[in-house]
Amino acid sequence: MKIMEASYDYVIIGAGSAGCTLANRLSADPEVKVFMIEAGGEDHSPWIHVPVGFVKTMVDPSVNWLFDTEPEPNLNNRQIPIPRGKVLGGSSSINGMIYVRGQARDYDVWAQLGNRGWSYNDVLPYFKRSETREGGGDEFHGEQGPLNVADVTEKAGILDFVIKSAEELGYERNPDYNGASQEGFGYYQLTQKHGRRFSAKAAYLKPARKRRNLRIQTKAQVTNLILENNRVTGVKYFAKGKYHTCVARKEVILCAGSIQTPQILELSGIGNPSILKKFGIQVYHELEGIGENLQDHYASRMNWHIKNAVSLNKYTRGLPLIMEALKYFVMSKGVLTLPAGILAGFIRSRPELESPDIQYHIAHASYKDPSKRVFDDFPGLTIAPCQLRPESRGSVHVKSPDPFIYPAIKQNFFSEEIDCLTHISGMRIARKLMNTNVMANYVEREVLPGDTCESDDELLDFARENGATLYHPVGTCKMGRDSMAVVDERLRVYGIKGLRIVDGSVMPMLTSGNTNAPIIMMAEKAADMINEDVLDSKH
Ligand SMILES: Cc1cc2nc3c(=O)[nH]c(=O)nc-3n(C[C@H](O)[C@H](O)[C@H](O)COP(=O)(O)OP(=O)(O)OC[C@H]3O[C@@H](n4cnc5c(N)ncnc54)[C@H](O)[C@@H]3O)c2cc1C
Repeated sequence: MKIMEASYDYVIIGAGSAGCTLANRLSADPEVKVFMIEAGGEDHSPWIHVPVGFVKTMVDPSVNWLFDTEPEPNLNNRQIPIPRGKVLGGSSSINGMIYVRGQARDYDVWAQLGNRGWSYNDVLPYFKRSETREGGGDEFHGEQGPLNVADVTEKAGILDFVIKSAEELGYERNPDYNGASQEGFGYYQLTQKHGRRFSAKAAYLKPARKRRNLRIQTKAQVTNLILENNRVTGVKYFAKGKYHTCVARKEVILCAGSIQTPQILELSGIGNPSILKKFGIQVYHELEGIGENLQDHYASRMNWHIKNAVSLNKYTRGLPLIMEALKYFVMSKGVLTLPAGILAGFIRSRPELESPDIQYHIAHASYKDPSKRVFDDFPGLTIAPCQLRPESRGSVHVKSPDPFIYPAIKQNFFSEEIDCLTHISGMRIARKLMNTNVMANYVEREVLPGDTCESDDELLDFARENGATLYHPVGTCKMGRDSMAVVDERLRVYGIKGLRIVDGSVMPMLTSGNTNAPIIMMAEKAADMINEDVLDSKH
């Protein structure tokens, strides 16, 4: 039985990084009624809030969709896990908490592709508006925004030596890779506050929740959009064992992320007709780009056995773990506050490049078995190189008209030669970093890939067999002006009125770094555009 729900000005689908940001900004006007629908539940799990808990939430079906790719042809047909948050805060509630904006040129390229209003100068004010930088703002950083950005408090002797080692090789020490230049080595900035995760839920939704004009429905999965005369008039969703509908008077805003935003559009009959017809979905509106242009970061983790230094491996068991747990619960300090990567390195694989094309996530920890998250018994250090702007492209498409069947995700990692070559360079430079005079006193041996892995082919084989995504899928409903673009520069879906997309799927090109901060920035900007467009329509 269908129950007709109340009507709202805006219906937001998905309470992730973008959805929470928009819910806050749009409901700031008490005259506007906002309804946000989220498939996951409340963020009650303690593993969400204790930073090291990401190791648990990464594989926890109660807060994570746990997608997998189809067999990847260039990765020995392995299926790569694609975790995505299914909880208030979305992926920002289970991510590695690393705060990276990318390079100024990323946004200038977006603008150069015809997306007016998205150059670095245009977007910097929105990064600043979203941020409270602990220690104070400046030309690049905000100091009054909802999102707290902290520093790593548990700096490690061995990581300080890695910075010195980089300097020995001629790389710069960079205390602020989100400032004037990204290049160099320094500690990561974190979306944390007082030693706790600071998700988009904590930053944006919590302060807005008491507003009477904002309704949040959790554990409700949107199945499709309701369309009339090329306009979205509402949304159908499944909650508490029943289908419901609601009416959107002004707009529906899709914020379901790069995997499910294209899925919801295709389930609603919007997409590439040949794909929709294959699954018996009636075509409502043709938009060939939906689900295409998938881009993501791919990293392979290299490990070293270190000596004369302490690593985090020691704290993952026994008495040291108990002591750290006590320290955390009494003082909100210690190794339990550490993020997924601790030390950052942004470098150029070739000196003639204009800006870095490789990012390192470096941590003084190492896994014996990464799939089971079991740490080594000896002190270890991991360097994970990844290419910042891969050229391989994949896709996400429905594989059934049933909304509860996961879509087919094809990343096509390493399908372009430049991606393979850049990855190999990243691995070789990581080796150099661990082979300097500075590191001689601290490196016992390379464990993975190990000394026997020498040639380019051997390094690439290791990467194909052992690498994984860095969890940044974007681009599947790209903003642009070409025939594969899905939204215009104001994030309105081409050919359908009353429908916008605001999430990672609209990035035309992946930014040079982790994606949470850019997506929050995009939602901040989208909120202004939505409010401006409503004002325009009144005149
Ligand atoms: C394990 C992991 C580690 C990461 N580490 C970092 C990091 O350290 N730093 C960084 O910057 N980025 C990191 N990222 C990436 C970053 O968190 C994401 O890019 C960002 O959160 C995505 O934002 P979004 O708004 O596009 O989507 P999401 O935040 O994923 O939000 C989408 C929301 O929509 C909901 N939804 C989906 N389908 C439906 C439906 N049909 N009905 C109702 N609701 C629906 C989902 O449940 C989810 O809550 C990581 C991601 C993961 C998964």
